This record gives sequence, structure tokens and C-alpha cells, in this order.
Amino acid sequence: MSGKGLLVVLSGPSGAGKDTVLKSLMQNEPGVRLSVSATTRAPREGEEDGKDYFFLSCPRFKELVENGKMLEHAEYCGNFYGTPSEPIEAWQAEGCDVILEIEVQGGAQIKTKRPDCVSIFILPPSLEVLEKRLRRRGTDAEEAIQKRLAAAKSEIAQAMHYDYVVVNDDLESAVEQVAEILRTEKLKSIRNQDFIERML
Ligand code: 5GP
Repeated sequence: MSGKGLLVVLSGPSGAGKDTVLKSLMQNEPGVRLSVSATTRAPREGEEDGKDYFFLSCPRFKELVENGKMLEHAEYCGNFYGTPSEPIEAWQAEGCDVILEIEVQGGAQIKTKRPDCVSIFILPPSLEVLEKRLRRRGTDAEEAIQKRLAAAKSEIAQAMHYDYVVVNDDLESAVEQVAEILRTEKLKSIRNQDFIERML
């Protein structure tokens, strides 16, 4: 009785540690699939096309949006990001939980299109810690860091619209909280499956 998988939106400002939380979560949760987004941003060192992102030109990205191939899309810090629709339904039908690691504008679009989604916001313990993390990871130029810090405040203001907020102070505890949310939501979702109808 695995039923349909959950659709999970995971947001939080750049540097909140979403990637690290997810990486750790995926190691222990074989039934979870992470959607690979499309973006027009240039690859960072070590990022692979098709694994970390589908790296696309602007015209190609726009073409996919116009052809209805994106479940949501948004502009963030001067680049476009979007979720390819195709794999999502298939994974959910297989019973896998699907996680979309997306920013808040995309999160709002998913909430409208798929009100059954579960939304989780990852918060850093403070803006000072966020800035330190962005600098420490050393993947972005100063200008990009400044843009991301400016975006962080308006993103954090959207946290209250999410179903759950997890503070990523301690990685292990943040991962456990996300895992616990998935377990709880999975149990709640049994109400919505035809499992009950089939018993009657
Ligand atoms: P980064 O450039 O650091 O990889 O990602 C920047 C922001 O874009 C992050 O907040 C990330 O969650 C978000 N993002 C990544 N993929 C998508 C997507 O498909 N759609 C939307 N709306 N945001 C995304």
C-alpha cells in the first residue's frame, strides 16, 4: 500500500543549506527523488549537466516555457530557473516522493497548481551565519553574493506561507526534521488514497 508519492517543495535563501540537507536526506531515503531543474545560469565548477541542472541557453529555456514543458519557472538574481514537468507525475505514480528544491516564486506557483503539495522552508539560524556560509563556499563572485544576500530577506519574509519551517542550525537535526515531516505527511496522505474506498 505505498500509494502515490508526495510532492514536496523545499525553499530557503541561498546559503541556508538546502543542498546539504537534501544530500544527507537522500542517502537514507531510497524512495525520494530530487527533481533536476533547468537553468540559464552558468555551471559552477564541478557541476554536471543533467545531474545538478540542465544548463540551457535563454532562447531554449523560453521555448520550453512557451511549450508548457515547465511546471513552474522564475527569474532569480538575473537567471532563469524552472522545473521540467515530465518526470514528476511518473515518479509520484510509482510511489516515490518528489522534492523540488526551488525559490519562493516557484514555490508559490506550485502551491497554486498543486495544492496537495507539502512545503518546507529551510531557515539559516541568522543572516550573519547565512553571509558566512555564502562566503565560505567560495562558489560565487562578490557581486553574486551581494545579490543573494539582498534576495535572502525577501525570501525569508515568505517563510510564513510554508507548511513547515526548519532551522538549519545543526545539520543532523535539520535532516531528521525533514525526514520526520515526510513520514508524517505520508501517513496523512493515506486518507486521500483510494485505499479506503477499495475497502468498502
Ligand atoms: P543556485 O544558483 O544557487 O543553484 O540556485 C539559486 C536559487 O534557485 C535557489 O534558491 C534554488 O533553490 C532555486 N532554484 C533551483 N532550481 C529551481 C527551479 O527549478 N525553479 C525555481 N523557481 N527555483 C529554482
